[in-house]
Amino acid sequence: MLKPPGRQATVSEPEFFDQGALVAVLTTQPLDRTLDYKAPEGGCLRGAFVEVPLGPRKVIGVIWGAGQGDFDRSRIRSVIRVLDVAPMRDEMKNFLTRAAEYTLTPMPAMLRLATRAPGLGDPPSMRKVYRLGQREPDRMTDARRRVLDTLIEYGGLAFTLKELAEMSGVTSSVIKGLTKQGAVDEIDSPRDMPLPHLDPERPGKELTGDQAAAADSLRTALRSDRYGTTLLRGVTGSGKTEVYLEAVAECLRMGRQALVLLPEIALTAEFLTRVDARFGARPAEWHSGVPMTERRRIWKMVGQGNAQLVVGARSALFLPFQNLGLIIVDEEHDTSYKQEDGVLYNARDMAVLRAAICGARVVLASATPSLESWANAQSGKYDMVELKARFGAAELPDMRAIDMRAEKLKAGTWISPTLRGAVQDRLAKGEQAMLFINRRGYAPVTLCRACGQQIGCDHCDARMVEHRFLKRLMCHQCGETRPLPTVCPSCGAEDRLAPVGPGVERLAEEAAALFPEARVVTLSSDLFGSARALKAEIERIAAGEADIIIGTQLVAKGHNFPYLTLVGVIDADLGLQGSDLRAAERTFQLMRQVAGRAGRAERPGTALLQTFQPEHPVIRAILAGDETGFWRAEAAEREVAGVPPYGRMAGIILSGTDVAQVFDLGNALARNDAPLRQIGAQVFGPAPAPIARVRGRHRVRLLVKAAKGAALQEALARWIAPFRLKGDLRLSVDIDPQSFL
Ligand code: ADP
Ligand code: ZN
Repeated sequence: MLKPPGRQATVSEPEFFDQGALVAVLTTQPLDRTLDYKAPEGGCLRGAFVEVPLGPRKVIGVIWGAGQGDFDRSRIRSVIRVLDVAPMRDEMKNFLTRAAEYTLTPMPAMLRLATRAPGLGDPPSMRKVYRLGQREPDRMTDARRRVLDTLIEYGGLAFTLKELAEMSGVTSSVIKGLTKQGAVDEIDSPRDMPLPHLDPERPGKELTGDQAAAADSLRTALRSDRYGTTLLRGVTGSGKTEVYLEAVAECLRMGRQALVLLPEIALTAEFLTRVDARFGARPAEWHSGVPMTERRRIWKMVGQGNAQLVVGARSALFLPFQNLGLIIVDEEHDTSYKQEDGVLYNARDMAVLRAAICGARVVLASATPSLESWANAQSGKYDMVELKARFGAAELPDMRAIDMRAEKLKAGTWISPTLRGAVQDRLAKGEQAMLFINRRGYAPVTLCRACGQQIGCDHCDARMVEHRFLKRLMCHQCGETRPLPTVCPSCGAEDRLAPVGPGVERLAEEAAALFPEARVVTLSSDLFGSARALKAEIERIAAGEADIIIGTQLVAKGHNFPYLTLVGVIDADLGLQGSDLRAAERTFQLMRQVAGRAGRAERPGTALLQTFQPEHPVIRAILAGDETGFWRAEAAEREVAGVPPYGRMAGIILSGTDVAQVFDLGNALARNDAPLRQIGAQVFGPAPAPIARVRGRHRVRLLVKAAKGAALQEALARWIAPFRLKGDLRLSVDIDPQSFL
């Protein structure tokens, strides 16, 4: 069932199919095989993107190889047409096939990842696009303001009428009105305009000794023209970005394409500006926020080899690069590189796979590498390059624990007197303080004081989280929201509902009350309607227009706040409690990252960690700044337990609306585990998943553990294949699960 269809292209396959020849076409439709067609008039190349008839529809596909010939020849239809885009290269076919095998994903789903650009088949033509004009409108309205803001935000980009209207939340008549007045220009533009040229010969920053050595080693590795991975490790602010931009420059000089993956869209804006400053133009961008027409253009440019550098999210790995020489994975430890729905893949691992196939270099950059990468560097599989010092005068913050057992706090408050004093001190000096809590919303639990019930989600086994800012309760599992009730849904008591525990909004309230004179800003992903609003807020903070910043993990990532000199972590113990295999690692990374926000400029920073267990080994390692010590201890524990990276794991998630059916399937799988036993693997479960119900579907999990060298995927495929999924039952395989939810 899950075996990838089709055969791998071999050199003996013909390169070109004459008209009428039988070809196998892989489509994006959920079929478990390639389909045979006749090559169209004029013939077609192997790898060509084509349009084929499927039932009454026309669908996109790729000429995968020679037809298999097992259909009735007289009923075979012809390929409708060959699309005007570069054919898929063998290297890409190879990548998709291997990625499919690794993640146990059907090939059509892989092909969908590789063709995420609508209108690929449309012929190039002229169309009307809209960009910022010279004149001011006679009268400014909210709607007009939004249109102009959108255009300013995207710095000179042009959009179609429909895109611009959607992005600005206005009707097209508003844009037409602005066009009449010259505030917006309407121009005829060929689709698929070329991208601006990046010049690698422009001078970069003058590097320090450490940085220059690191850049040299990356350049040398690149020039070998062979696959290899380098772990670029250096504390936040040590200049990792400056160093890898030098590797990008070298790659461009060699005439090869480069790809930089970033974990957060919010980080791209700052990065694009840096690329512009370094190479004199902005690179191609690829992520969910890129407008549709722009996607199509970038996809085509990348495929023609005319995009020198792409900056994007994990899906950029599936772009049709012609000559990819370098992939940078910035913040390689970041959990958002793992795609958690649809095709379950880890972009970091897939970057290594893709590079190995096309002979490219990978650079994994991080201040706090994942244990996997650290172990690979230790074993010599990866090279390691280190930047030891922060750039300039900036120093690593001084880190200390606040022992919460010795602090006196009023009920319903979370800022200890010690932390309060430290914040006060920063305010007096005109510096910034940041208070960090990794919980969105106002309070994680809403409790009825009459009956003791907590308000839960109707569709999930999760508690509803109060979001006071939105005046709603929200389920963070399924996104369901409802107005804040005044009456307990369980017992009907009136006005007895009470928030329990802190969220970022509640902390902000406490800070505002404690420091009434301070300007308090809250950064939480759900408080901002758009990435743009968030970016503006981040810029204001960087400019010193805030005194206290309250934030969730959003703030732990890569921003530069020069006035920030104190970071207070409200609950350093939060991450230590999870049953997650990576809980300790996550806590360690997060704390180090958050602490890295403080003292990035000339002023030294301090990080204070509120904890009830200051003697916990993870907390101790964080405070001591002893990364190597932490990794060694953590590696030893995992090695003994035989878990990743010293063993292999796969999660099997079963779900369905009928709980008994889901468990029956789970039990049947567990009983019939011969293919797993043959490779010495063990299966655990079925057990209810930690969140056992999501959107009304019951979820059950099995966990498979195998030795490091075991042929896990192949055994999993054989194990699962005989099971037919009845009704609405669903099964998904998660190789190397990251989150255990
Ligand atoms: P990292 O990626 O390790 O966090 P960055 O490359 O972002 O570090 O560097 C941190 C800051 O220091 C940036 O503003 C960067 O421009 C500056 N910087 C780093 N190295 C140099 C250098 N050699 N010359 C000038 N500025 C530098
Ligand atoms: Zn829910």
